[in-house]
Amino acid sequence: MTKEKFLDYKLSDELLKAIELLTYKNPTKVQEKVIPIALDGKDVVVKSQTGSGKTAAFAIPISENIKWEDNEPQALVITPTRELAIQVREDFFNIGRFKRLKVATVYGKSSFYNQQREIKQKTHVVVGTPGRIIDHIEKGTLDTSNIKYLVIDEADEMLNMGFLEQVETIIHELPKNRTTMLFSATLPTDIESLCDRYMNNQIYVEIEERGITVDKIEQEKYLVKKDDKLELLKNISILENPDSCIIFANTRDQVDDIHTELGKYNYPCDKIHGGMEQKDRTRIMENFKSGYFRYLVATDVAARGIDIDSITHIINFDIPFEKESYVHRIGRTARKGKTGKAITFVSPNEKYLLKDIEDYIEKEILLKKVPGNELINSLKKEFDEKLNTKAKIKESKGDLLNEQIMKIHINAGRKTKMRAVDIVGTLCNIEGMTKDDIGIINILDISTFVEILNNKGEMVLEKLQTTTIKGRLRNVNKAND
Ligand code: AMP
Repeated sequence: MTKEKFLDYKLSDELLKAIELLTYKNPTKVQEKVIPIALDGKDVVVKSQTGSGKTAAFAIPISENIKWEDNEPQALVITPTRELAIQVREDFFNIGRFKRLKVATVYGKSSFYNQQREIKQKTHVVVGTPGRIIDHIEKGTLDTSNIKYLVIDEADEMLNMGFLEQVETIIHELPKNRTTMLFSATLPTDIESLCDRYMNNQIYVEIEERGITVDKIEQEKYLVKKDDKLELLKNISILENPDSCIIFANTRDQVDDIHTELGKYNYPCDKIHGGMEQKDRTRIMENFKSGYFRYLVATDVAARGIDIDSITHIINFDIPFEKESYVHRIGRTARKGKTGKAITFVSPNEKYLLKDIEDYIEKEILLKKVPGNELINSLKKEFDEKLNTKAKIKESKGDLLNEQIMKIHINAGRKTKMRAVDIVGTLCNIEGMTKDDIGIINILDISTFVEILNNKGEMVLEKLQTTTIKGRLRNVNKAND
C-alpha cells in the first residue's frame, strides 16, 4: 500500500509549510487514520502508544479547521501532566506557526494571573491539566463557549492519576456541538464508558505498535541487592558510558539520593520529580532536551509521553510497580527509528514484578552478569574523558521553523494604546511585506513582540528604524527569546 502523503489531505499552504520544516515526510500510521476523520469533524477514540505521532494527528486537523479570526479558544486539550502540556503546546504551536495560531498552556503550581492574562488575549488553543482548567473555568477566566474541539490525551494515565472525574466536570462546561478525540494506550472500561457517555458515533482506531517499539530496544536486567544498587549504577554508567540517559526511581526520596550521589562524582546530571517547583521542572526538562547534561534522574513524571530525541539509555534503578510503566519508561529511548538500551535492576524480593513485566512484553529480558572491577577499571579512562567533555547541544524540533522567523521587540505597548491593527498597518506598508509575513503579535503593558515570518525579519528591522508606528519613531530591536 502506498503511504498517503500530507498533500492528499488538502491542507492549507501554511500547514504544509510547517509540516515540511518540521521534516515530517509522510504521515505516521496514526496520522493516516486520524487526520481524515478529524478533518471531517467526527469523534474518534484512538488506542495508540506515545511516540506514534499522535500529537500531530490531532494538532494538524484542528489547526486546519480553526478560524483565525475568532478570539475565544476553539480547541481544548487536556493532558495528565504539566510536562506533557508543555510538550503538546510546543508541537501544536510549531504546526500552527504559519497560520499564526496562539496556543496557551494552563497548569497548576504556576502563576494563575499570568495564564489568565495570556488567555484573555486572542487564543486559539488551550492545553492544560484538569485541575487548573477547572479553576479557570470556575473563575470565568477561560471562556469555553466557542470550543469546537476537545482532546483528551493519555486518558489511561488520567484515570491512573484519579483525574477522570475532573475531566467529566470539564466536559459538562463545553458546548455539546463539538468534536471529541480521545487518545489512550489502553482502553479500560472506565474510559470506554466515558467515551460512550460523551461522544457521538465515535470511530475506534487502533494502532498496534507496542511490539515494534519495544523490539527496537535492547533490554537487559541485573540481579542486585537493594544496598548494592548505587554501586552498580556507577559501574553500569562506566560500562555503558551513555550519551544521554534517564535513570528512573520509584520515589522522590530515591531520586534525590541518586542525584546527590552522582553529583559527588561530578556526573553531568539533574533530577525531576513531582515535589519540585514547576518552573524548575520545566527548565530542567528543557535543558535535558537541549543536551546540557547527560543524566536525568526521574520519577515517572518523565515517563509518559515525553518526547526527547536521542536518549541512548534508560536505567530502571527501581523496577516499576506497574508493568505498563515499564513500557512507558523504556519507550523514552529508541525513538524515531533510533536504537536504544534499557537496563533494569531487580532485587531478590522484586522478582514477581519482573515476571509481570516479562509476561506483559511477551519476552524474557536478557540477564547480565554484574561487571567485575577489572573490566570497570579498564573503561574508567574513557568514561572520565566523556565526563569532562562539554556536551553537544541538540537541535530542537522547531529549529528549521525558527530560522525563518524573527521576533522583534517594540518599546510601546498597551499603556501607549498600541493595538495589533497599528502594527499590522505599519508593517504592511513596508515594501515587500504582506499580512502573511506577520506572525503572532503579543502586546504587553509597555512592550510589544511581533514575529516576522519568511526570512523578512532583518529587512523589517532595518525599515522600522526609520518608520514611525502610530505617529512616532519607536525603539525597535531583535527580541531575545
Ligand atoms: P508523539 O507521539 O506525538 O509524541 O510524537 C513523537 C515524535 O514524532 C515527535 O517528535 C514528533 O515531532 C514526531 N512526528 C510526528 N509526526 C511525524 C511524521 N509524520 N514524521 C516524522 N516525525 C513525526
